[in-house]
Amino acid sequence: MSQMLFGKPVAEKIKQNVASEIESKELKPILALVRVGEKADDMSFARSIKKNCDNLGIAVFDYHIAEDGREAELLPQTIIDCNEDERISAIMLLRPLPKHLDEKKIVNLIKPSKDIDGITISSEAMVYAGHGEGFAPCTPEACMEILKFYDMDLTGKNVVVVGRSLVVGKPLAMMLLAKNATVTICHSKTRDLRSICRGADIIIVAIGKARFLTKDYVKEGQIVLDVGINFDETGKLCGDVDTDSVAGIVSAVTPVPGGVGPVTSSLICQHIVEAHLKGVQAKC
Ligand code: NAP
Repeated sequence: MSQMLFGKPVAEKIKQNVASEIESKELKPILALVRVGEKADDMSFARSIKKNCDNLGIAVFDYHIAEDGREAELLPQTIIDCNEDERISAIMLLRPLPKHLDEKKIVNLIKPSKDIDGITISSEAMVYAGHGEGFAPCTPEACMEILKFYDMDLTGKNVVVVGRSLVVGKPLAMMLLAKNATVTICHSKTRDLRSICRGADIIIVAIGKARFLTKDYVKEGQIVLDVGINFDETGKLCGDVDTDSVAGIVSAVTPVPGGVGPVTSSLICQHIVEAHLKGVQAKC
């Protein structure tokens, strides 16, 4: 049977480090959590961020903005105010924004030093060019943390990343490359995805298609990371990997729920504290 690469111990280790950093340095970090509209997944994500922050002693300023009308028009000003508010260590803007808002423009108003989910151009430059101000996006970083925690050496390994979004696939490919993996990025137009996946040492799937990756895509000895968060036709939470189908074949796989997700959430807290410390240093 395949080893289950659970996210919980990885997340716990990160949270312990964050907690001891906050306690030993008597930090008072504050997150500005900006949410637009009433999307159920945003609400659930916001609840989980707040719970994690609360447990670690990170205060959260909640900015819930209506999707239309005057409030939506004030969203850019809200971001600017959060940038300028010296009490606020970090800004998390939940995305995607409603279609009628200019997401690219609004995102890039966030001060890079407070951009803890790596969504500004400055943060992207840091991941892609290796320099700049900002943070790596938390989800690809979570994949890297899982591989590190479970001692998966990446040097010279063939890693196939399925999905090329700016949120996961592309930055993840850069992070893997920086660890000397040989990376293939696949997407919806890739031909013969099955054989490309079967040729990999490690497969990381981030496509948003429930239980897409089945036994036909894998072979013995592979490591599979499942980034997907989907709901199947019965409303059950599941990943992009059909875990039951691949579990008897591959050597290790992350579960959904309980894999990449909790590690992503813990990294949000880690980045808040890092942003807070940067802010403190900048004031000195
Ligand atoms: P996205 O922006 O919709 O991008 C999906 C990517 O998958 C695109 O590059 C697309 O290719 C590719 N794709 C779609 N169907 C494909 C197929 N049949 N074969 C190969 N590639 C295919 O999604 P995302 O934001 O990256 O998110 C991906 C998944 O990760 C979602 O389930 C999301 O909920 C989840 N997620 C999880 C976390 C976490 O913390 N665990 C965080 C963020 C996202 P094209 O570019 O050609 O369209």
